Amino acid sequence: MKKTSLHVAIIGAGLGGLCLAHGLKKHGISFSIFERDDSPTSRPQGYRIRIDHTGQSALQHCLSTSAYTAFVSSCALPSTHVQTLTPQLKLIDRWVEAWTANDFDSPDLKADRTAMRQVLLEEVQDRVYFGKKWMHCEVVSTKLIRSYFEDGSTCDATLLVAADGAMSPIREKYMPHIQVQPTVNQCIYGKTLFDQITTLPAHFYTDTQIIFGNGLSAIIEAMSFEDRSSREPYIYWAIIGHEQYFGVTKQVHESRTIDVDQILANATAGWHADLVALFRAADSASVVMTSVKTSTPALLDTLPNLTALGDAVHVMSPAAGLGANTALHDARLLSDCLSRVQAGEKELSEALGWYEKAMICHSMAAVAASQKGGQTLSNPTDNRE
Ligand SMILES: Cc1cc2nc3c(=O)[nH]c(=O)nc-3n(C[C@H](O)[C@H](O)[C@H](O)COP(=O)(O)OP(=O)(O)OC[C@H]3O[C@@H](n4cnc5c(N)ncnc54)[C@H](O)[C@@H]3O)c2cc1C
Repeated sequence: MKKTSLHVAIIGAGLGGLCLAHGLKKHGISFSIFERDDSPTSRPQGYRIRIDHTGQSALQHCLSTSAYTAFVSSCALPSTHVQTLTPQLKLIDRWVEAWTANDFDSPDLKADRTAMRQVLLEEVQDRVYFGKKWMHCEVVSTKLIRSYFEDGSTCDATLLVAADGAMSPIREKYMPHIQVQPTVNQCIYGKTLFDQITTLPAHFYTDTQIIFGNGLSAIIEAMSFEDRSSREPYIYWAIIGHEQYFGVTKQVHESRTIDVDQILANATAGWHADLVALFRAADSASVVMTSVKTSTPALLDTLPNLTALGDAVHVMSPAAGLGANTALHDARLLSDCLSRVQAGEKELSEALGWYEKAMICHSMAAVAASQKGGQTLSNPTDNRE
């Protein structure tokens, strides 16, 4: 089999798309990334993101040594303790199974999403095009797929990769059988800078607290950095639970258009004054509401030169912190498969078939664990103090 020269068009410069770009770069495969947003900081997308052993090993595999070192140094200092508490801040003995799987030889890293994206952009930014909203594509031949963007431009590639996230327009058009399903859970997340609230008990500024309320749970995590001159420390918080406790039944996606502050105040009424103060002190613009979605991973069964990774094909609840880690794992698998095509060891169709089976197998387990995590967090409590 002779060597094949590939050009990969990646739609979406999120965590999965950027990790794939690094993997391709390492293998000497040509690529371009097209991102709808005007810049990496156009909209808040969550603040703290836990990168577990799977995510770390995918990043280490795909990134250059210098980029991986920069990523690790951009992460927050590890928490000194993890406590499970009631909304009145009483210690309880309760845990979420998905989190106990944390491998203590390789503890999760607390990445700041914006910093992580900056690091991931660094070595590939000459091939990332912002303000490029993908609209549709056309198979020109077995070796050429053409993408059309909102601004009228086009891009030809050997392979198109949908890395365009939970609301993927590519999935909707070309893989309509992969359905994103609503769940009964909602999530509100935000960040409060250390400077915005200085009166909390000391452990809020160093530790992780998990609050189990009645039908609602919260994760609260200190994000302080070794280099404080370049990154302001903050407390990340996310509240997740059954929609009835938020008083909102409609589906929202990363929304600030509804009255999130009022919904948050109602949902956490009666919680300890320190918690209420923490949520209230957050800059309103940083507080976002999103409905929790899930999906059933399935074979892509799509155009011959189209594949997908990450949330685009397996949206999952954020409850177990697995969505990004799974997207990074996909990126690793896909870049390795494509390296074999470029080397002439496999046909593109065969490599994509292998990738999709491995990706689905891994993501099914992650979706199931996330669903279980979501149920645990939204079940009315049985708090044993
Ligand atoms: C509150 C919260 C906390 C979370 N915490 C964790 C955690 O701790 N650990 C974890 O592993 N996961 C976590 N997740 C899940 C994680 O954020 C996602 O699974 C992850 O971002 C998916 O990466 P992705 O690359 O597939 O998609 P994304 O990161 O969403 O990237 C998709 C990109 O595609 C772009 N795009 C969309 N449409 C178009 C278009 N038409 N044209 C061009 N570009 C387009 C988007 O602008 C975006 O930049 C959390 C999620 C939430 C909501």
